Amino acid sequence: MASSDLNPLNKAVPFRRELAAWFAREQRKLPWRTQCSLYRTVVSEFMLQQTQVKTALPYFDRWMRRFPDFDALAAAPAEAVLKHWEGLGYYSRARNLHRLAQAIADLPEVPATPEEWIKLPGIGPYTAAAISSIAQGYPAAVVDGNVVRILARLTGDERTFAGNAEAVKAFGDAATALLDAKHPGRHNEAMMELGATVCLKRSPLCTVCPVVRFCAAAAKGEPGSIPKIRRRATETVETTRLWVRRDGKLLLHRIPESASQLAGQYELPDCSLLAKRRPQGTVVGVKQRGITHRRITETILQVRCSPAMIRKVEAAGELHWIEIEALDGITLSGPHRRWVRELLENTSDA
Ligand code: SF4
Repeated sequence: MASSDLNPLNKAVPFRRELAAWFAREQRKLPWRTQCSLYRTVVSEFMLQQTQVKTALPYFDRWMRRFPDFDALAAAPAEAVLKHWEGLGYYSRARNLHRLAQAIADLPEVPATPEEWIKLPGIGPYTAAAISSIAQGYPAAVVDGNVVRILARLTGDERTFAGNAEAVKAFGDAATALLDAKHPGRHNEAMMELGATVCLKRSPLCTVCPVVRFCAAAAKGEPGSIPKIRRRATETVETTRLWVRRDGKLLLHRIPESASQLAGQYELPDCSLLAKRRPQGTVVGVKQRGITHRRITETILQVRCSPAMIRKVEAAGELHWIEIEALDGITLSGPHRRWVRELLENTSDA
């Protein structure tokens, strides 16, 4: 780690004070901050893993109306939980949150330390530290991508890390040294807020940064180049999905319960489920999306429903004709709800 007069680790007290004053002035008024409880903190932390605040906000409000506390969530059926998560992606978070509520309902007391939290479903080191510090005042420092970025820049650390996990590990001690142990939740939230709104990935807003006087990278002049973390090579994936409408029904694939991801959700079927080769049909959509390091192109092909196809669907088990009128009642994975809405407007029964 670079040593510098600007290194905030040498000036932890004024650093904490200035960060806290900025946070008191500038923090966004978010529903889990304006009305705090352990449950609201837990739900917000789960939703904010891999999802931006502005995307999570409407989901958070809807979730709180339907599942206002741990007991309500624990008692809810799995389908209702998934349905309320639909569109947020990374559904294992919803499943884990549900299991967490059930585990808490069975405990004599809620966990109070990161070591206790981390034993429960869906809780990793970051979430354990966030929940116990923000909701319970436990002095644990959070370290995620945002915090790594801030600490690497503040300390002018130019090392190259093999991946996010290595970088998170490297800055654990620095985060703990900087933590305001009297107000750990406020301090952690302020660090996260700084990373989300000021110390941005590509273009940090150093001119308005409340801790610029402690920052080695800003003094040197190239803060955007830090931290240096090797990224996985991008993988290109191409798939063809089928669009088959018949008698007011749509053909969908139900992902088996045994699947490690998206179990029980519906999607437009991959053509390999019905044919060895891509069948004849009309391209009605080409969709592109990125999931972690993968760039996926999905071509949607409208095909006629033949008697042979009907027989194959019946034999496949995982394929189902769903009444178009009933589509709102099922959970569609990822962007499939949007695609289905679009295509229903632009196509008719084949
Ligand atoms: Fe980040 Fe710039 Fe603030 Fe340094 S001065 S912490 S680089 S925003």
